[in-house]
Amino acid sequence: GFLAGWRNMLLWKQIVIALVLGVAVGIVLNMTGNQGIAASIKNIGTLFLSLIKMLIVPLIFVSLVCGMTSVSDMARMGRIGLKAVLFYIGTTAFAITIGLLLGTIFQPGVGVDIAAASAMEPKAAPAFIDQLIGIVPTNPIAAAADGNVLQIIFFAMMFGLAINLVGDAGKPVRDFFESLNSVILKLTEIVISFAPYGVFALIAWVAGTYGLDLLLPLGTVIAALYLGCILHGLLVYGGLITLVARLNPVRFFQGALEPMIVSFTSTSSSGTLPVTLTAVQKNLGVDRSVASFTLPLGATINMDGTAMYQGVAALFVAQAFGVDLGMSEYVTIVMTATLASIGTAGVPGAGLVMLSLVLTSVGLPLEGVAIVAGIDRILDMARTSLNVTGDAACTVLIAKSEGQLDLEAYNTPHVLATPQ
Ligand code: ASP
Repeated sequence: GFLAGWRNMLLWKQIVIALVLGVAVGIVLNMTGNQGIAASIKNIGTLFLSLIKMLIVPLIFVSLVCGMTSVSDMARMGRIGLKAVLFYIGTTAFAITIGLLLGTIFQPGVGVDIAAASAMEPKAAPAFIDQLIGIVPTNPIAAAADGNVLQIIFFAMMFGLAINLVGDAGKPVRDFFESLNSVILKLTEIVISFAPYGVFALIAWVAGTYGLDLLLPLGTVIAALYLGCILHGLLVYGGLITLVARLNPVRFFQGALEPMIVSFTSTSSSGTLPVTLTAVQKNLGVDRSVASFTLPLGATINMDGTAMYQGVAALFVAQAFGVDLGMSEYVTIVMTATLASIGTAGVPGAGLVMLSLVLTSVGLPLEGVAIVAGIDRILDMARTSLNVTGDAACTVLIAKSEGQLDLEAYNTPHVLATPQ
């Protein structure tokens, strides 16, 4: 019957159906004045997000420890790290450039009513050296309790390295972590099977709360960013996958679809991490030793969508307030937005807070943040989805170049299904 058909359907199909249904239900609720129902549907989404977040810390730690103990060659880990950082920063700078280009072409801020804006407090940029030093946790348990991903990565790598160095005496610990890893992966699979319900609830809530009206006043900003994200995804990631990794790009986007949609609705790269880790390994055949390192790192520092958003938004604010920007301001925006996107946490709305930093750097009024805030959720969905797609693309590219990509798994259509 219908229920059996739904249960046996592949996860990505369930998620796509949930997304479409959620938008439809949300719009109907909005048009019939039932925003209250939309708000209560959100609880299901919150429940799903809590379930995923529950997995983040144990999942990153255990899979990275196991990733480390399955690599005997430490120079390779260093090489992977270097490649990841270069890829992440390079694509980010490219993304802002696309954002600035689209902001110039679309002119989203021209004719915007700025009277409604209220003053904002600027956010101070954290000193780069402090961020760097802060990667070493003084207390690994506190790092885990705070969900500080960079600190967890650091401790997990040191821990895994030590297991490798200790040799035979470390075997019980290594076996224990392998076993723990299987258990946590199973748990992740179970949680991810609820994704369709979470996706449905979250998108129904957004569509039901904001409705179609929200899309109108700042529609050009929304259109510019969505177009930019699609272009960046297809041209940059699709291009790199095709030309550099010499892989079928269609398979990449198919395999990355679950994290793309979950991040679109959750607006959190970190919150999507368990889904990304699972999809990249199971759908795209990336080895754990690469994915367990590049994905948590990417979810923390790689935010192409956020960077592009800051480019588009900065131009929007400049146009709305009638400020002319010169070439040197454009260069400043590229540099500040790159740094700001690295410093942005992978949580909902974090990019909006960092926007104040970019605006300050070129002397734009901070009231701009308040104008953008009204539609930020809609923008956050697109940019977070691009952020996560970028992490997955980088991971596939590096895995391919390191001989850690199972080509057969990559070329086999989706496997993620509801655990039976
Ligand atoms: N929500 C985004 C993310 O998690 C960050 C942002 O607000 O730009 O990737």
